[in-house]
Amino acid sequence: MSSRRHFTVVSFHAHPDDEALLTSGTLARAAASGHRVVLVVATAGEAGLASGSFDDDDDQGLARHRRVELAASARAIGAARVVVLGYPDSGWSGPVVVGRPPGHDSAEPVFSRADPAQVASELAVLLREEDADVLTIYDPAGGYGHPDHVQVHRVGLLAAELAGTPVVLEATLDRRVLLRGVRLLTRLGRFVPLPEVPDLHAAYTDHDDLTHRVDVRRFLDAKKASLRAHASQASGDRGPRTLALLLRLPRPVARRVLGREWFREVGRPAGGPLVDDIFDSLRARGRTTATDDDRRGLRRRPWQLTAWRQAGSVATSGSVSPRWRASVWSLWVTER
Ligand SMILES: [Zn+2]
Repeated sequence: MSSRRHFTVVSFHAHPDDEALLTSGTLARAAASGHRVVLVVATAGEAGLASGSFDDDDDQGLARHRRVELAASARAIGAARVVVLGYPDSGWSGPVVVGRPPGHDSAEPVFSRADPAQVASELAVLLREEDADVLTIYDPAGGYGHPDHVQVHRVGLLAAELAGTPVVLEATLDRRVLLRGVRLLTRLGRFVPLPEVPDLHAAYTDHDDLTHRVDVRRFLDAKKASLRAHASQASGDRGPRTLALLLRLPRPVARRVLGREWFREVGRPAGGPLVDDIFDSLRARGRTTATDDDRRGLRRRPWQLTAWRQAGSVATSGSVSPRWRASVWSLWVTER
């Protein structure tokens, strides 16, 4: 009898393509080991930078493209389910939240300005429905400081508390490795065009605060496929893009640059050796897992299934908000 346990990881992101950059290797590795992977994305990324050719048909053209790209990325990862919450993308060109994306009601706050408690209650419904063991969010700085990414951190912490999700991991980068890479790129920049690099001295996470460094070198093909799926973000009218640059790296360099992913587990003391397994705390606590059928929460919590199925029509639970009913967009990528 195998003692192998299967867990469910919900990976919460701000925009389509964020999952590819920070977590796709770890998620692909989890999925390949039989764990259930669910992607939740707060916005459709409609205010993202992209070549004009992607949003010429109508206001929501880019959003549509990015949802299709997200589904392709999810398939590359092996995710079982993708949910887009449908908040308006804040857009960003520096420290001030600019503009309002097309196609959204002007009274509706952009994601970074939405009430964190409200969004958290929506995410908590999903965490409970999935009986999530692990939630991934971002570090408090929101990586490089995008206000939607900072909001993912805030909302994620609250949602995990509401739902009782046992492990919360901040997906991040090792600042020390990042700064070393930037110095190298700056030297290379004399020979090849590179994206503009912001000041990253307070970005992401200090090496000494990290708890996990996940080896994803065996899942590089899945990670690159996930990155490649976001074609709209590999092009743009404002010069070279990070994503395009990453996809062009020669394989030995790609293994070094993309082959590891970093996390800080909330509440876990840092300073020890970095852990290579996102389920380590769960295994240590001996958290038992449910069967695949009741893992989905469908049998144990029928009211939640009802709420989900009737999204857009009937309120079946006080914990399901009008916004949730109105705007949730769910896609089952594969049936398990
Ligand atoms: Zn983002």
